Amino acid sequence: MSTSNTKKTNTLCVHAGEIEDIQFQGAVSPLFPSTSYAFLDGVEKRYPRNFNTPNQVALNKKIAALEQAETALVFGSGMAAISTALFAFLHQGDHIVLQQTLYGGTFHLVTDQFKKFGIEYSFTDGLEQSDFIDKIKPNTKVVYIETPSNPLLTITDIEMVAKLAKKRGLITMIDNTFATPIGQQPIALGIDIVIHSATKYMGGHSDILAGAIATSNKLMETIHNTGRNFGGNLSDYTVWLLERSMKTLGLRVKAQNRNAKKLAKFLDKHPKVERVYYPGLKSHPGHDIAKKQMHGFGGMISFELKDTYNPEVFMKHLEIVKPSLSLAGVESTILSPALTSHFLVPKEEREKQGVTEGLLRFSVGIEDKNDLMADLEQALEKL
Ligand SMILES: *Cc1c(COP(=O)(O)O)cnc(C)c1O
Repeated sequence: MSTSNTKKTNTLCVHAGEIEDIQFQGAVSPLFPSTSYAFLDGVEKRYPRNFNTPNQVALNKKIAALEQAETALVFGSGMAAISTALFAFLHQGDHIVLQQTLYGGTFHLVTDQFKKFGIEYSFTDGLEQSDFIDKIKPNTKVVYIETPSNPLLTITDIEMVAKLAKKRGLITMIDNTFATPIGQQPIALGIDIVIHSATKYMGGHSDILAGAIATSNKLMETIHNTGRNFGGNLSDYTVWLLERSMKTLGLRVKAQNRNAKKLAKFLDKHPKVERVYYPGLKSHPGHDIAKKQMHGFGGMISFELKDTYNPEVFMKHLEIVKPSLSLAGVESTILSPALTSHFLVPKEEREKQGVTEGLLRFSVGIEDKNDLMADLEQALEKL
């Protein structure tokens, strides 16, 4: 079956990259778990850490097709993908500009590891063009963004950052985890390197740890080489499972977007809720940019209860929505970022970013929206 990029998203989700079962004509890609392949002169050396086992290649192709990228690689975790991408291009003496609100693990990687490699970094003060330009130095090599960001769902203007970086010869990277390739295709907007924690929406069932990078053939050469040295590959069993999961990515994400929009509006109107962060709300400062660069506004909602209410008590009263560390599964989950994803970020820095003790991050699942709304309602009622 031809799966060129002219095919629509849901078709790519199901078919792009699939391995034809020529032996039995089965409906799904066969699983090839071998770590050892024949060594033949002039033939590619097939080995899992070279990212070239049959199942890795199949999944790489699916992700590349969805991101409209020339090529993609799958990694053992989102952080394996992020660290490989960063260390592939940052050398001793180089400098990187990162946006201010970021996934806590990325913030920790930069602040905990870069110094010992002699890599300099700056975080912007905001998300405006001047905030990025102000931090660029003669030795800046990379600009790194994340939109919508974890956990405050800030929106960065992707095209604006891509343009200002290109003008200065800088490499741009984006963490596209929250948007997914269904919600946003940054390469078409001028970004060089797209990174995912596939643990989230791509996997989508809270049972896979994985990551991915999509980019051009040229930049991938450097990433591939670094990746092989670091060895953060995903086992072929999990690669195969992730290929299976991604067949429903389009359906899942669209259902999650629909539910989230409805629930964000409900929370926004509720008298016990102080503030809702959702790019789909007109009141969100990034709403217009989100409308311009995204398809749908995502399945994540963050909100704060009014001061007098205890968020932990609220979470205890929820019956369908489960407190959970991770996000983006088919089931609805909720957590306190200050206690979890941003626990490693110093409190002062956390507060500066707006990650207050009372903030809740709500990952909306595919359950019936009215059941979810009733669950929130009854838990709010009990406060
Ligand atoms: C979870 C997450 C990561 C890290 O991914 P792992 O798969 O946990 O290593 C990176 N970025 C974002 C936005 C995330 O939500």
